[in-house]
Amino acid sequence: MTEKVAKLINQQINKELYSAYLYLEFANYYAEAGLDGFENWYKIQAQEERDHAMLFLQYLQNNGIHVELATIEKPDCVLKEHIDPLKAGLAHEQYVTSLINNIYSAAFEDHDFRTMQLLDWFVKEQGEEEKNASDMVTKMELFGDDAKSLYMLNSELKSRVYSAPSLVL
Ligand code: MG
Repeated sequence: MTEKVAKLINQQINKELYSAYLYLEFANYYAEAGLDGFENWYKIQAQEERDHAMLFLQYLQNNGIHVELATIEKPDCVLKEHIDPLKAGLAHEQYVTSLINNIYSAAFEDHDFRTMQLLDWFVKEQGEEEKNASDMVTKMELFGDDAKSLYMLNSELKSRVYSAPSLVL
């Protein structure tokens, strides 16, 4: 693996852990708002992001690359309305997709087919993350102003359970 690709994957560990932090911030917002389903959704989302970080970490270790852990930034967002975390979540997932694509480009340039194969899973995962985030925004726009609908939406999100990532290294 080239130094460039190794550095980008090291950085991605930090980005995924920041994502977990950001989603915990969203979970806190919804906990305080009394929307425990949204809180549950984002707590599980945070677990998934930690899983992503661990997959990249394990991948570096498996390839004998030094893992360098950096400071995780404080979540940078202002949350005032119930839709704010959802919109920030969509923008964040689009950003993460650009990061994954960037690592993929570097791996492609270096003919690092092993890393490309790892990243194939993440490319697909980002497609799902963006769709989920976009659907959440749409549902809140459609139903968020109606108390009964919001209650049902909250109940739907409360039923989400954590499942480990399908990728095994
Ligand atoms: Mg992720």
